[in-house]
Amino acid sequence: MKYRFLLILLLAAQWIAAQEKVRYQIFFDNAVHHEARISATFPSLPGGPVKINMSRSSPGRYALHEFAKHVYQLSATDSKGKTLTVSRPDPYSWLVTGHDGTVNVTYTLFGNRADGTYTGITSLYAHLNMPATFMWAEGLENRPVEVTFNLPAGKNWNVATQLKPESGTTFSAPHLQYFMDSPTHIGHNLLREWTVNDRGKTKTIQLALHHNGTNAEADAYADRIKKVVQEQQAIFGELPDYDFGRYTFLATYLPQADGDGMEHRNSTVLTSNSSLRQNAGDLLGTVSHEFFHAWNVERIRPATLEPFKFMEANMSGELWFAEGFTNYYGGLVLVRTGDESMGDYAKRLTFVANYLINSPGRRYFNALEMSQQAPFVDAAVSIEPHNRANTYISYYFYGEAIALALDLSLRGQFKNVTLDTYMRRVWEKYGKTEKPTPLTTSASP
Ligand SMILES: [Zn+2]
Repeated sequence: MKYRFLLILLLAAQWIAAQEKVRYQIFFDNAVHHEARISATFPSLPGGPVKINMSRSSPGRYALHEFAKHVYQLSATDSKGKTLTVSRPDPYSWLVTGHDGTVNVTYTLFGNRADGTYTGITSLYAHLNMPATFMWAEGLENRPVEVTFNLPAGKNWNVATQLKPESGTTFSAPHLQYFMDSPTHIGHNLLREWTVNDRGKTKTIQLALHHNGTNAEADAYADRIKKVVQEQQAIFGELPDYDFGRYTFLATYLPQADGDGMEHRNSTVLTSNSSLRQNAGDLLGTVSHEFFHAWNVERIRPATLEPFKFMEANMSGELWFAEGFTNYYGGLVLVRTGDESMGDYAKRLTFVANYLINSPGRRYFNALEMSQQAPFVDAAVSIEPHNRANTYISYYFYGEAIALALDLSLRGQFKNVTLDTYMRRVWEKYGKTEKPTPLTTSASP
């Protein structure tokens, strides 16, 4: 009996330790030089050295990116402020020894690219992709995470993110996987928010827009997004259940930003160096593509993408479906909202069909094998010549052509059946039933 009591106490202590949060603070005092100062506290550590990693990949982007190269002025202390020994076991990690169960790490981060992968810090904003910004401790991946964004005085910045609001500028995530999937844009965000009645449930859609344009342009853009949301809801019959009842478009349309769109579980990053005044139609195309991902890839989820492997690339053979079918619908939905003419959309499909028919790459790899090449082409960098002009076809267009062919086949062979019918069935069978990200340990290199 006594033994059992002690065992329960031990398990309770382990459980309490496992719930102890990892805490981050980030400061932007030197934003003008594209620097942030970051501190991380890793409590209730087991004995022995602790390995602190800077990620090498980012959710939704399939190539490796060495975020560790932007880290400097790193130091570590224990709970009493004693300086700890830090060594480098590999280019992406820091090994901290001699701690007392707590490790505090502080470092400076350089970042000057606002897009769907990297971190961009300027005097105007802090655009944070979490893997490019925050280090994490191996073995603590399942702990809850809390982050405080310390806003610079006098700038009137606010915080837009899918993270759970706690108090002030402090936000939380249930675990590392969720935290890393939650990009955050801090700056002068204009917020437009509306609710959608979805089979009796109220869901909030939010546009956080950082741009140089007017409030009227923001309002008009929000109205166009509302129609996109409605049309996509009609395809699937419902919106997904967003984790905190809210989906956020993080749109940064500023000359300093780099063009991109990146899907996440309850939000998307939309960046461009163009403006709503000049380019709202194209920008809306990215909105339509990324929002479709809230169903197709975020919840109709290839098993190959879960969990995120932050220290290596997630290779997936299913991107022709995840990206290609999404590409097909991105434009089709804009035809339905009246934002794109049928003629323009038909021209686009003609290009896709020509590309597929005439590319020699079809002789080398099928759609699944093309998808598996994403780690070499999705914002990947190489300096040597390659033969992709002959051997490669983008899985975006490969999949889009398959979507077109399937849609036409269904329409031709069955009455009142289209690709919409098919997508809704896929959603009901594989997406709606999707379980949240499993808690698992990320692999080391
Ligand atoms: Zn996409």
